[in-house]
Amino acid sequence: MKKFLFLFMVISCCRTWAQTDQQKAEAVLKKMTLEEKVGQMTQVTIAVIAKGGWGDRDGNIDPDALKKAVVDHHIGSVLNVNAHGFTVEKWHDIIKQIQDETKNTRLKIPVIYGLDGMHGQTYTLNATLFPQNIGMAAARNPELVREAAKTTAKELRASGVRWNFAPVLDIGRQPLWSRFPETYGEDVLITKTFGSIAVKAYEEDGLKNPTAVACCMKHYLAYSGPRTGKDRTPAYIPEIELREYYLPSFREAIKAGASTIMINSGEINGEPVHASKYLLTDVLRKELGFQGVIVTDWEDIKRLYDRHNVASSPRQAVVMAVNAGIDMSMVPSDFSFYDLLLEAVKKGEVPISRVDDAVKRILTLKYKLGLFDNPYPEAAASSNFGKPEYQTLALNAAHEAMTLLKNQDNVLPLSKNQKILVAGPSAQSISALNGCWSYTWQGKDEEWYPADNKNILQAITDKAGAANVITTTGKGFDNALNYDAAKLTAAAANADVIVLCVGENAYAESPGNTRELALPDDQLALAKAAAATGKPVILVLTEGRPRFITSIEPSMKGILMAYWSGRKTAEAISDVLFGDYNPDGRLPFSYPKSMGEIVLYDRKPTEEVREVFNDNVKSGYDPLFAFGTGLSYTTFEYSDLKLGSTTLTGNAKLAVTIIVKNTGNRDGKHTVELYTHDLYASITPSMKRLRAFQKISLKAGESKTVSFTLDKNDLAFVNARLKTITEPGDFEVMIGDKKAMFTYK
Ligand code: BGC
Repeated sequence: MKKFLFLFMVISCCRTWAQTDQQKAEAVLKKMTLEEKVGQMTQVTIAVIAKGGWGDRDGNIDPDALKKAVVDHHIGSVLNVNAHGFTVEKWHDIIKQIQDETKNTRLKIPVIYGLDGMHGQTYTLNATLFPQNIGMAAARNPELVREAAKTTAKELRASGVRWNFAPVLDIGRQPLWSRFPETYGEDVLITKTFGSIAVKAYEEDGLKNPTAVACCMKHYLAYSGPRTGKDRTPAYIPEIELREYYLPSFREAIKAGASTIMINSGEINGEPVHASKYLLTDVLRKELGFQGVIVTDWEDIKRLYDRHNVASSPRQAVVMAVNAGIDMSMVPSDFSFYDLLLEAVKKGEVPISRVDDAVKRILTLKYKLGLFDNPYPEAAASSNFGKPEYQTLALNAAHEAMTLLKNQDNVLPLSKNQKILVAGPSAQSISALNGCWSYTWQGKDEEWYPADNKNILQAITDKAGAANVITTTGKGFDNALNYDAAKLTAAAANADVIVLCVGENAYAESPGNTRELALPDDQLALAKAAAATGKPVILVLTEGRPRFITSIEPSMKGILMAYWSGRKTAEAISDVLFGDYNPDGRLPFSYPKSMGEIVLYDRKPTEEVREVFNDNVKSGYDPLFAFGTGLSYTTFEYSDLKLGSTTLTGNAKLAVTIIVKNTGNRDGKHTVELYTHDLYASITPSMKRLRAFQKISLKAGESKTVSFTLDKNDLAFVNARLKTITEPGDFEVMIGDKKAMFTYK
């Protein structure tokens, strides 16, 4: 008998040990009251638990407010900061207080804290900031995307936070959109490749490991395609286009194992995504097989009622969203969701099975993250904050983002002995180099940037010496001195060359809405004044989206696109200007000439060949700088494009090779891009689509054979029946100036 008892104990012990995180979640779920379940689905912002609510700037937690949230409302999650980032120690203090409070609850379920670590850990002071995604896309280097995301994960986890609201997987096909800088640009392949690399990098060490965080793909679906370009306004996108351009990055990221997803605050074809059972349950859950947590974006359930007007009451809004498939509501400033969902379940408007399903997913995530074992900041994670090598990585990433768009008469690189006039609003601005989500939401408040974050004037002076550098600028983007064209003209008399730093100051989300993409008039006037001096002008663009420069471009000798490239932007710019770094970035979007010419590189034949009845409107793809533009101080030549066969059959693979030679006298990196063109198809084919890319390094004079493999998936498209298919026919392969043909059978 004793023997049996012992055996029984051993078996049940093993059972407990072998329980999966999901089984553990299910076991907890069984013990929960409806109130506790609904609480888990509730996410509030820090203002709800802070002393002074929204007035709190420093993360001072109010014990009574905390008890109200955690004990009385059983909340599952907290997010955000009110005003600015905190030190690692402050974060530890906040997380500890919250988790301590969970010990006073019946089931002691830990709270999950979420933050937006968008190009580095935004909200921890001194964290490493990398180029925005648009710059990472220009760098075309998967390893940099991986390493930057891994560093972000480490610095978040070191701060005691295990949930990152990143990566942005929205494709940047609307340059007016204020969140364009957060995208990987206009191309599907780059967006899905880099998005899924980031997802893996955040999570692949295993969520229990102190080097990982749960990521959050966002914002599903087509947030980036508002018709007017204004943030959170309606998109009208036919499903064929949704599937061809907007969905692939999410599909790929789900395959890469992403744990959570955030929903688009906007509406598509009149249906708010938060209320779309089709997009949330039929497509996301059933078709794409997503198993993780679906969280709303900011206040978006309320907005179904008070903005979108598809729900006629706040409760109906909750019912719609939860029944459509939402698991957690970023409420975030009160407990209304909690109250309304309770009521709705009691009235039978939301089935308890839907609530159980949501809570099971949330608890499983918490188990996977190790929060049930230890919800507190981990000593093993803390040492991963602020390592010196992160700064090297940030500099490497900023270097590789730099995209040289024009270099007339080889005006660049500059000599360090020239007299240089540094002008323009971003010359002494830090925020215009980092952009959104930089220690504050808007990124504008320079008080919170690390003291060693250099501006362009400092980085240029470091190289050329104070005696060789003149400036007419003052600190801060909006400083009136920066726009004084007369002073610039006078100062230019003593200069050999003018480095004119223009672009955009930081903005995020709706504050970045604009009616006009042209560079503002006062900046264009500066450029015209600079050109009129007769001195060579180098235009340095620090901006998150293409601001039109068509009227000044012809008079600029050099143009460097620097994007918002993070903490090391200034150093990277000056390294490129003086030739200490040979630029290799390539534009991840088409830089338009004007509003009437926003055509993307993967245009349709009818955008390429248009009926032209006057000379003013040229036919074809006519941007100021094409997708993929990026000059180097050396030159690369392509030869010997070879296909393994002239036919590709069924599921077979087609080998493609090309020889690339560095024909100049400097070493350099170069991204080789392979495009295909489907000659005839049942849906009008794109003139070209990027199918593969590889970044290589070549010493001066060196040649390399670069190999790619294509298969039928690389030739596929979404057809009129919304199926992804590959049709038999002839295809062109294009690499650089070389072309070859093959037939798919
Ligand atoms: C943004 C999200 C972000 C959330 C929390 C929203 O306004 O759209 O991208 O994750 O705020 O900060």
